[in-house]
Amino acid sequence: MPLLLLAGLALSAPAGAQVDPRTALLERDGFELLEAGQPRRAAEMFREALKSDPKNARLHLGAGIAAYMERRDVDARDQLERALALDARLSEARVVVGQVLRRQGDFAGAVRVYETLVAEHPDEQATADTLGRWRRELELHERMRLAVGERFTVSFEGPAEEELASRALESLDRAYWRIGGLLGATYPLSPIPVVLYTREQFRDVTRSPAWAAGAYDGIIRVPVRGALDQADELDRVLAHEFTHALVRGLAARGVPTWLNEGLASAVESDRTSWADERLQTPGIAIPLADLTTSFGRLSSEQAELAYAGSAIIVRRMLDEAGGYGVAQLLRDLGEGVELNAAFLRRIQRPFADFIATVH
Ligand SMILES: [Zn+2]
Repeated sequence: MPLLLLAGLALSAPAGAQVDPRTALLERDGFELLEAGQPRRAAEMFREALKSDPKNARLHLGAGIAAYMERRDVDARDQLERALALDARLSEARVVVGQVLRRQGDFAGAVRVYETLVAEHPDEQATADTLGRWRRELELHERMRLAVGERFTVSFEGPAEEELASRALESLDRAYWRIGGLLGATYPLSPIPVVLYTREQFRDVTRSPAWAAGAYDGIIRVPVRGALDQADELDRVLAHEFTHALVRGLAARGVPTWLNEGLASAVESDRTSWADERLQTPGIAIPLADLTTSFGRLSSEQAELAYAGSAIIVRRMLDEAGGYGVAQLLRDLGEGVELNAAFLRRIQRPFADFIATVH
């Protein structure tokens, strides 16, 4: 994700001329590892390089991006702010600080950072677009009302949505006990924010593909306004996104998308027959290796197959190891245990053997 964010802003050349060759190599390797989606190893490179060159802004930038990718938001902010203190022109650091603030729920702070960024780079259209979207989101959220439950808070726009908001709270509470129980008594530590949008607002704020029925990025976001007549669908979508919140609580990082989406799709309702039916109709199977990162790039038809295939795999994992086993697997992944090792320990058989029997 950060690399996408940074796509509009070419990484500036190193500022200092007197960088020792070993540090320069570590820095180069670190950024290459970030490009390759390996933030944990990249973080090690930057940490090592910072030992001998602690005032190098780009090393702090790299360390900050790695922390951002690993969802260590406090570390990310710390490193990026150091980078900016050392070199205020390091716009890449500002880009990521804005994302971190937004992810931490500080929408106004994120908007301020992007205002500075747009002032510095008036010709970067993508940055200006992001700022525009975040401002609209901030205004929308400021005029929303809040229905507060013990375990969730639901934001909605006007009195007309009052009934929907209380229905959503009830539906979320049911999902909370059902899915938390299923995963071996896994419950969130603090109330989860939920925002109800119209479909247009949802697309604008989340930039999800047209087929998306909800999103979770620390906040459960769902386009359900005007959906009172479809209670089943409301339950399904909220349960699905709540499952993502549970997964995030178990493992902030390291979870392949097929596992995250597969679990959400397997437990969102009592039935998974849709997944079997979907896979029986002809279509091109997508290799699992292609389902480790976001499904957002898939077409609607590919996405259906991806969700169905993932749901069937995770349903089998739940059948074999139970919800507790799957929850433990997620914890291991979040702590950086490699998938094959974690799978063997928690599901009690080699991952490759398991996958061969599911297909
Ligand atoms: Zn999902």
